[in-house]
Amino acid sequence: MKTTNLLKIAIVLFGLSFLLWNCQDEQPLTSPDNTIKTVAINEALEHLNLLTVSQRSKNQYLTDINTKSINYQKIKKSNELLAVINAKTIYKGRYSRVLVLKVNDKIESVLFSMTPNTEKENKLYTGELLITDLSGNFINGYRVKKSKLVAQFVKRGNTKLLSRGETCPDHGECTEGSNCVFCTQELEEVVINSNSGSNTTQHVPVTGLYDYTGTEQGGNSGDGTMSWNFGSDGGGGSTESIVIESPESSIEDIEEYLKCFNKTKSAKLTIYVNQPIANNGSAFTTGTDKAGHAFISITQGDITRVYGFYPEGNASPYSPNGTFIFGNNENNLFDVSISFNINSVSLNNIINDANNYTSNYDLNTNNCTDFVIQTAGLCGVNLPDPQSSWLNGGGSNPGAFGQALRNMNLPSGMTRNTSGGSANSNNGKCN
Ligand SMILES: [Zn+2]
Repeated sequence: MKTTNLLKIAIVLFGLSFLLWNCQDEQPLTSPDNTIKTVAINEALEHLNLLTVSQRSKNQYLTDINTKSINYQKIKKSNELLAVINAKTIYKGRYSRVLVLKVNDKIESVLFSMTPNTEKENKLYTGELLITDLSGNFINGYRVKKSKLVAQFVKRGNTKLLSRGETCPDHGECTEGSNCVFCTQELEEVVINSNSGSNTTQHVPVTGLYDYTGTEQGGNSGDGTMSWNFGSDGGGGSTESIVIESPESSIEDIEEYLKCFNKTKSAKLTIYVNQPIANNGSAFTTGTDKAGHAFISITQGDITRVYGFYPEGNASPYSPNGTFIFGNNENNLFDVSISFNINSVSLNNIINDANNYTSNYDLNTNNCTDFVIQTAGLCGVNLPDPQSSWLNGGGSNPGAFGQALRNMNLPSGMTRNTSGGSANSNNGKCN
């Protein structure tokens, strides 16, 4: 009985699939995004290597490309992904990324730069977008107001340098040394309808990034416009989410906190990293871990103390510097850690450093990751310190640092945990 039923079902299914297959055969599916394809990670890196090596001698525009930061981001209305790599140019006030995609079976890379307006602290992005080749030659650009594209830039005709003395709505008068895209690229702008269907908040059309000419398949119709969320940085972190908060549990007196250790004896140091996204080099995410955190724990016999370095108030790329405070990080979640034994001299160094610490917190130059790296340095351990850039700043960060710890060669005596979990609890008392 059962077998007959199964057989019947099988015949019906076979018939159906035959019909479906037949239909497809007659009317081949035309995917709207068949002109673009995700570039495999190795292909992308190889492509960038070739490009940057061949251009390095003559290229004064692109100053750094952080291939370790490569991550894949969604393209709206497409199943393909955009490879995104942090980069730096000679313009310090710009936030730049290299975008790699296969267009008509050819790997294409552009440099995408954001120059925010001078008002700052806007939750929505206002400023300029610039798309160039890796040498800085203009391809396209937009003016953005509250995350909507309001104008598209076009290159001026033979009027080089005439824009000096003109004024950018976002950056004021054009001057030498300005980061302004409008001024430095000699542009004029064409107003675009910010309410058109293709103008999705915080998105640029893929056709605005790459040249689609030379193919009849290149056009996009109606609301099928493929676009990329430029505010999204490394797995979804957006410009508004880059805030480093003060610790949940702050340490009022670090000397008191660390006083139980016997400074004439050795101890064990563990460096924990909570990455924004586990096993990913992104500096930020809109997920719960935000910018992540790097912190340490010291264990000596029954005594354990866990702590990390924080801004006393909140810090953001627009207000990166301020007084610091230590936070109690016992039982905090982490993604990767390393541990090693330290002698009494190193223990002394660490405790004295914490007790006498005076430098301000600075999101770009002295954040939780910098603190952890300098603490390891006090024990004679040099840890990798990869740098990333983000809108209006850049520096060490738990995402890139965590990846570097995963990938580093372990010195003898050092152990590593790459599966993560909860950090140590504080333990042990003294009087
Ligand atoms: Zn400007």
